[in-house]
Amino acid sequence: MIHGLMMQQPLLISSLLRHAERHHGEGEIVSRRVEGDIHRYTYRDLAARARRMAKAMAALGIGDGDRVGTLAWNGYRHMELYYAVSGMGAVLHTLNPRLHPDQLAWIVDNAQDQVLCFDLTFLPLVEAVAGRLGSVRHFVLMSDRAHMPDETRIPGLLCYEDLCIAQDDGYEWPEFDENRASSLCYTSGTTGNPKGVLYSHRSTVLHTMAGALPDVLCMSAREAVLPVVPMFHVNAWGIPYMACMVGAKLVFPGPALDGKSLYDLFEAEAVTLAAGVPTVWQALLAHVESNGLRFSTLCRTIIGGAACPPSMIDAFQSRHGVEVLHAWGMTELSPIGTACSLKPELAALGSEQRLAVQAKQGRALFGVDMKIVDADGDELAWDGKAAGELMVRGHWVVAQYQSGADPCVDGWFPTGDVSTIDAHGYMQITDRAKDVIKSGGEWIGSIDLENIAMAHPKVAMAACIGVPHPKWDERPLLVVVPRPGETLGREELLRHFDGKVARWWIPDDVVFVDAIPLGATGKMQKNRLREQFRKHLIPTA
Ligand code: ADP
Repeated sequence: MIHGLMMQQPLLISSLLRHAERHHGEGEIVSRRVEGDIHRYTYRDLAARARRMAKAMAALGIGDGDRVGTLAWNGYRHMELYYAVSGMGAVLHTLNPRLHPDQLAWIVDNAQDQVLCFDLTFLPLVEAVAGRLGSVRHFVLMSDRAHMPDETRIPGLLCYEDLCIAQDDGYEWPEFDENRASSLCYTSGTTGNPKGVLYSHRSTVLHTMAGALPDVLCMSAREAVLPVVPMFHVNAWGIPYMACMVGAKLVFPGPALDGKSLYDLFEAEAVTLAAGVPTVWQALLAHVESNGLRFSTLCRTIIGGAACPPSMIDAFQSRHGVEVLHAWGMTELSPIGTACSLKPELAALGSEQRLAVQAKQGRALFGVDMKIVDADGDELAWDGKAAGELMVRGHWVVAQYQSGADPCVDGWFPTGDVSTIDAHGYMQITDRAKDVIKSGGEWIGSIDLENIAMAHPKVAMAACIGVPHPKWDERPLLVVVPRPGETLGREELLRHFDGKVARWWIPDDVVFVDAIPLGATGKMQKNRLREQFRKHLIPTA
């Protein structure tokens, strides 16, 4: 064998920050703070403060591989910890504050977090659970002295700004093996206990490089990016890393995620690119449309985490001139797996056919390989019709959970999503395996039915669930939130399905509700709906 004669440098997260400081140090980072005001500084400031925080963590006794937990919104201090903790060789563990306190306590203990850093918003939450967090040696409030509580039940509560100011920024990021663990995120655990996914420096940097490419997030120094996707769940889709790599202006929304606050921030900071789950965009669109507003700078939005209804894609594109990129991923994939950018032959399609393609979750980016398999594990055709479990493998796909459990089958990770792949390589999720409706031995995809319901002008939100049926095992039931001020009848809505799906796919009934429960990551909690409406069809069947 003859070796190549090129430099060998480990792929480290600190190298992203070093690059940002040296090559676009003046780039701006703007944060709406929990404290209520707007904070702005540059990548150069970020780098210096991240070095101080790395020293502060070391002074608290944090060393190689120790876990530092965060309970925080999207903001500059959270960003500093992203780099400080991973960069020094410890593990950043982002916690989802929307989880139930019992689950939170379980996760902190399971991860053995040594330090817990949290935003002011979460002071009551941390006070309530602190006594149960046996592994945590230091609690740090991510604010300044002026916002420290006079009294608290949290033992020895530390102030983030005090820790930061106590250090100088003279610090060299250490070099180590790129396979070292960098950060930790637990799956939402809609079934059973959540599972820890432990990312490495290498997997993170490779994900960053691939995710920023033009056919994926298309990140560049010319963008002003606002991630609505939280930094507390799967690294805000990698945007905090990509932004450093390319030097994009970053705009952090803090805790204010309602339509008005987001719109105001888009306009004030000239945001060009945003990213979030469909439920967030729905609130934004409602605000914009009911107030007759226009987006003056926003040109693209990335929607994923749950299926994006074509009606939403159409609203953004045809009514507001904002291009939608539909993407799919999961915690176990760091998270990006596919993005629905159009190949030239598809970009030339008429608007309706184009929309049908954009409703798909898209094609695999380089670094991720995918296939669909039947119940026996045999690979299915890429014909856009055959549906089976989606399997993936790649540089940023989980190999083992933190518990040591190995989920893979012959080197492929089973996603638990059921999908098709068409001849162009576009993957479309028909359902999560546990949400599929099994009617008379056949499968009905709930996402398709939801998309049709969502296209009805009087529907604000729709979930389709399988409920027990004496003859067919399960039948689809549609749970609908009407738009404010609209009244909508069962028959009117069911007629809307005529000709759009096979007759036996049409839901058996519709129930109207005020709200659909959302989980910790803003997705509809269909398991709760299934529980609530378990007996719904039996009396009429
Ligand atoms: P959880 O929902 O359990 O928290 P993740 O946050 O990792 O887990 O979400 C991953 C799941 O979200 C995927 O397996 C898939 O079911 C769903 N998902 C993500 N993006 C999309 C999308 N664009 N369309 C449909 N489903 C999606």
